[in-house]
Amino acid sequence: MNVPLPPTNGGCRSAPVLKERGQREVFCGLTGIIWLHRKMQDAFFLVVGSRTCAHLLQSAAGVMIFAEPRFGTAILEESDLAGLADAHEELDREVARLLARRPDIRQLFLVGSCPSEVIKIDLARAAERLSQVHAPHVRVLNYSGSGIETTFTQGEDACLASMVPVLKNTAARELLVVGALPDVVEDQMLGLLADLGIGPVRLLPARRIDDTTAIGENTVFALTQPFLGDTHAALERRGARHIAAPFPFGDEGTTAWLRAIAAEFGVSEETFERVTAAPRARARKAIAQASEALRGKSLFFFPDSQLEIPLARFLTRECGMTAIEVGSPYIHDALHGPDLDLLPAGPQISEGQDVDKQLARARAARPDLTVCGLGLANPLEAEGLSTKWAIELVFTPVHFYEQAGDLAGLFSRPLRRKSVLRMEAA
Ligand code: SF4
Repeated sequence: MNVPLPPTNGGCRSAPVLKERGQREVFCGLTGIIWLHRKMQDAFFLVVGSRTCAHLLQSAAGVMIFAEPRFGTAILEESDLAGLADAHEELDREVARLLARRPDIRQLFLVGSCPSEVIKIDLARAAERLSQVHAPHVRVLNYSGSGIETTFTQGEDACLASMVPVLKNTAARELLVVGALPDVVEDQMLGLLADLGIGPVRLLPARRIDDTTAIGENTVFALTQPFLGDTHAALERRGARHIAAPFPFGDEGTTAWLRAIAAEFGVSEETFERVTAAPRARARKAIAQASEALRGKSLFFFPDSQLEIPLARFLTRECGMTAIEVGSPYIHDALHGPDLDLLPAGPQISEGQDVDKQLARARAARPDLTVCGLGLANPLEAEGLSTKWAIELVFTPVHFYEQAGDLAGLFSRPLRRKSVLRMEAA
């Protein structure tokens, strides 16, 4: 089996980490609802929040117009915030109205926000109460999407972690693949695992509540997203075992991810090569073409999506870039260690953010490409730096072999655009 070799100058797993805490520029966890509601086709996300939360959801959802959207906001009015009304009673009424109108809803998530946390509405208690009222047709769970001390991908983590305690028990030896992927990408992954002879494979989140996702001491699980720290902990508490691996971005990451699972299930080398050879070759060719503009260019990651470490591994090892700083909101050794092992030594690894200090470092380094949140991108572009919005990475199919070229293309596009603009200006 082809195994990605560690870099000759050593990896970054034991590199000193610059830990910063200060002002941050990130979106809140409500953002995750935009991709989660597409994935879970019988779920509804009811944000218990303010008009600001409703606006965030509407603008993050952009131009998507649904006759019957699967998310909404129960708006806390001033009387709720002042403690003059019983928010629980109002919530019960809203939920009853919603479920009467929408019998297709089988899972209801009450999503906490900054306002609901500030006034301490106990959504766990509300979810328990509403579950009893609306069971067995509807399961009601709760999680927090608030922007207090969180970053936008933590919404998915909190949502999936809230589902783990209610998963059915199983004694079967099964693979659980964890993380919301676009259906087309998930189908490719399931095809690869089936061709390798690995199964049964269960998914979290499943597309529908009736799907057969269960968990027990014989479950092994693989993560497809590097921001699922709480879900990882919740799964381990239920006795499941994590298959640690680099994340499936690019040819190398996908191969290493599949290889770790294949080793767990005793897949032979011949089978692994037979199944992966053709898609690997396609991925390599696509990456070579899409990464031409990236070779030899420098890269700076602001902490935003928690995808930074595996992406830095992909961009340095497979696209020929040099990382100056790789910032991540949180670094979990159990999740990010395998990617840090492969990331060539050199960049400053940083965790957390003090945005002014980090901006000063980026300005001094003047990287060819800066990956950052929307709020920083425009000012940096105005200063002549090329930027990539981190949030695009969670809205675009980027995992596994067939998307590897597109992933490289996402990063090369801003550089190409800049060189075209330069040529036009000349
Ligand atoms: Fe703003 Fe907090 Fe609502 Fe997010 S949850 S939109 S950060 S008020």
